[in-house]
Amino acid sequence: MRIRREDVDAVRERSRIDEVVGEHVALRPAGVGSMKGLCPFHDERTPSFHVRPQVGLWHCFGCNEGGDVISFVQKIDHLSFVEAVERLAARLGMELRYEDDGGRPASGRRDTVGQRQRLVEAHRVAQQYYAEQLVAAGDAATGRQFLLGRGFDGEAATAFGVGFAPRSGEALLRHLRGKGFTEEELLASGLAAQGRRGLYDRFRGRLLWPIRDLAGDVVGFGARRLFDDDSIQAKYLNTPETSIYKKSQVLYGVDLAKREIARTGRVVVVEGYTDVMACHLAGVPVAVATCGTAFGTEHIRIVRRLLGDEERLGTEVVFTFDGDEAGRKAALRAFDEDQRFVAQTFIAVAADGMDPCELRQARGGEAVKELIESRQPLFEFAIRSTLAQVNLDTAEGRVQGLRMAAPVVARIRDASLRPEYARQLAKWLGMEVEAVTRAVIAAGRAPGDGRVQRGQRSGEPPTPPERPRRPPASDPIVRTEREALECLLQVPQLVPAAEADALPGDAFTVPAHRAVHDAIRAAGGLAVATSVTPQAWLEKVRENAPGPVADLVTELAVAPPQAQSDEALARHATSVVLHVAEYELTRRLAELNGRMQRMDPGAEKDQAFRELMAAEAARRALQERRNA
Ligand SMILES: [Zn+2]
Repeated sequence: MRIRREDVDAVRERSRIDEVVGEHVALRPAGVGSMKGLCPFHDERTPSFHVRPQVGLWHCFGCNEGGDVISFVQKIDHLSFVEAVERLAARLGMELRYEDDGGRPASGRRDTVGQRQRLVEAHRVAQQYYAEQLVAAGDAATGRQFLLGRGFDGEAATAFGVGFAPRSGEALLRHLRGKGFTEEELLASGLAAQGRRGLYDRFRGRLLWPIRDLAGDVVGFGARRLFDDDSIQAKYLNTPETSIYKKSQVLYGVDLAKREIARTGRVVVVEGYTDVMACHLAGVPVAVATCGTAFGTEHIRIVRRLLGDEERLGTEVVFTFDGDEAGRKAALRAFDEDQRFVAQTFIAVAADGMDPCELRQARGGEAVKELIESRQPLFEFAIRSTLAQVNLDTAEGRVQGLRMAAPVVARIRDASLRPEYARQLAKWLGMEVEAVTRAVIAAGRAPGDGRVQRGQRSGEPPTPPERPRRPPASDPIVRTEREALECLLQVPQLVPAAEADALPGDAFTVPAHRAVHDAIRAAGGLAVATSVTPQAWLEKVRENAPGPVADLVTELAVAPPQAQSDEALARHATSVVLHVAEYELTRRLAELNGRMQRMDPGAEKDQAFRELMAAEAARRALQERRNA
């Protein structure tokens, strides 16, 4: 069944691609007529995903995916072409006509609608049904009492679409069958389960929270146990994995919170459905919760996309944990996950271990807001909760505290943060900063105890280290520096050796480039480079480069060459290396010139003048050499 061509075109034209993409990715302006954000199709930390609203196209320069608004919806929601067009049409309130049905609107025609749409429709009907049941007489009173007992009235229940699943076991089934849903659809939706005597309602006698995706479609439910005779003991029961519900990707409340998250740059992660409700009602409209699983890497990706990216300063992820051991463990686990993310991560723990829902009930909405404001950086939380396990009033306790907390500080991957936390730790312990710093450095060196090295943990994917920020390649000096380093690493035999080895330590202006140059010099420079195999040369440079710099060395070493033939490559290598030398001399000349201006006549000024002339002569020689 094909959708009429003109309808497809109309859907494409009328759908605003920036809005559709914006439901999944925080976009910000990137030059005239262009917007960018973090690619939802590959993991990245700086945006290479571009959208041009005027032409209705998107492209990711990181993974080279791209297309129009329809292909975006297809890819992001795993839909067929027809399903994607149908979804966009529904969004626009457009009715589609199909090629071979005489042009009649397709509404109600099951066979023309993709499975996803059917499952979403089943959930929409189920949500409505469950919400109606919550206000019915009988068993539902227990559900209403549960809500009232936690400070949620009928208005709150309605706002969040909370419902009640009747205890009979097939009430929903009957309702959905009456609406024309097939047995296969009911099973595939997860709303029904297969028993020995046929299908039955998955949720029975439970309070239900509808779980929506980013676009606001209900894709599953979270269900709270209410009755003592419930044969399922689990307090919470969730929709099983289906084609539209993936627990590693859903966040309860994200549909309500996404705009405020993007606007304020803050997201609050709480532990339960009632906590999300309590936060939103208390004036913290950025709260979300995972559904029956821990906050994992896929959740991190979703949150990161909503927040924008690291270039946006001051974004915050605030976790609320019960102040118990599980919360501490969860925080420390987050510590090892992704520190670029963790660096902006905060922990909020209520003094008396209450969750946001309990807090709102006991002390009102203001107390919830105060809890979030009382957040502390994850690093601080991790160190202090480690110290909380020992008695700092005794010398033995303090020594023990240092032994336990030093590895935590050493595990902070951003080296620039470590001294600050070493100072903090010294303060909390009442010890000398030097002693603590020594302990932190020693802990960082201790095998298996300190900082996690790349690829060291077995069974877990290596964590990408902090990379030196890549400078914009549009700057000609930056580009020349980069290409010179590429040549020094890739084709040292083609580089003018004397000039290359004469490059001083500050010849490169970009700090990351300077770090690579330092590693090249530490590895022995051109003399070594031209006397060992290319592989051995790179290995030597990498050995002399601290972690993240080693990765940049790799990147520069695999960069595509700037010329095709050896002869052209030699010309290119000579040119870029001499250019770097020349830029350095030009900077030195400007500096000498400025210094001379400020000098009174005398021996010192004469000396500076001689230096200036020498530099000038060197620069002329370089220029001649380059033009030869
Ligand atoms: Zn991409």
